Amino acid sequence: MSDLLVGGHVSSSGGIFKALERGMEIEAEAIQIFCSAPQMWRATKHTDEALEKFVNDFTASPIKSVWIHNIYLANLATDKPEMLEKSIASVVNALTVAGKISATGVVLHTGSHKGLGIDAVSEQVIEALIRILDQTPSSTKLALENMAGQGGVIGASFQELGMLLTGVDSDRLGVCFDTCHAFAAGYDIRNSEGVDSTMKEFDAAIGFEKLFVVHANDSLMELGGNRDRHENIGQGFIGDDGFRAMLGHPAFAKVPFLLEVPGYPTEESEKGNGPDLQNVSHLKKLRDG
Ligand SMILES: [Zn+2]
Ligand SMILES: [Zn+2]
Repeated sequence: MSDLLVGGHVSSSGGIFKALERGMEIEAEAIQIFCSAPQMWRATKHTDEALEKFVNDFTASPIKSVWIHNIYLANLATDKPEMLEKSIASVVNALTVAGKISATGVVLHTGSHKGLGIDAVSEQVIEALIRILDQTPSSTKLALENMAGQGGVIGASFQELGMLLTGVDSDRLGVCFDTCHAFAAGYDIRNSEGVDSTMKEFDAAIGFEKLFVVHANDSLMELGGNRDRHENIGQGFIGDDGFRAMLGHPAFAKVPFLLEVPGYPTEESEKGNGPDLQNVSHLKKLRDG
């Protein structure tokens, strides 16, 4: 098996360990899950039995890496103290669960400064990240996701993420590179020249060693559209050439590619059920040549 794992986001409903079965159904080599309902503050309680079953099933499965996506409500740049505490608690919870299920780490949308500018909030965000890392298992990693560049959201530029990483200065903190978000933010990754120059910029601002995980999504919107609309691999504006270039670029050699695509229509769902076997197989084909 290649060191570059291909997989996708799968549902963990009905018991966290069910995600592994769903991952195997789409022949994923790595999966991403929510450990808590993404639009709710209240953390889902997992029984010891469920967590133990996850670890046993994970060990016995062909899946090599698990990432948890944090809930969407968290905002480390909020100006409301109560909201900040809840946000920190949500990431601490996700990293704690990650430690219990032998997951690699947690992907986080850092938050939004709502137009105040990154300089107004960077100190608060850095302090919050340090607090989070201080109280969570040292075996786990935290990856800040690059964003599409909607108003006030932190992390559309590599420089912004790099500045936060430098401020925190921890081996456990890195980046989740979402291909659709990068494209929406204006990084042209449609071919190997574009990927080369984008990754040069990434290396200068962040460093390849901080690239922990990729969200592999094609884009329904054109370059620089600042809109976050995912499309199946090869069916959007990034296209096969862009993904082939990324899969072959040395910066991604040991980084899992996790799909968050709509999926192809099925009998039950015209819109698709999310990452499916067809997208996983397609990405593997682009990887393996
Ligand atoms: Zn995300
Ligand atoms: Zn993503």
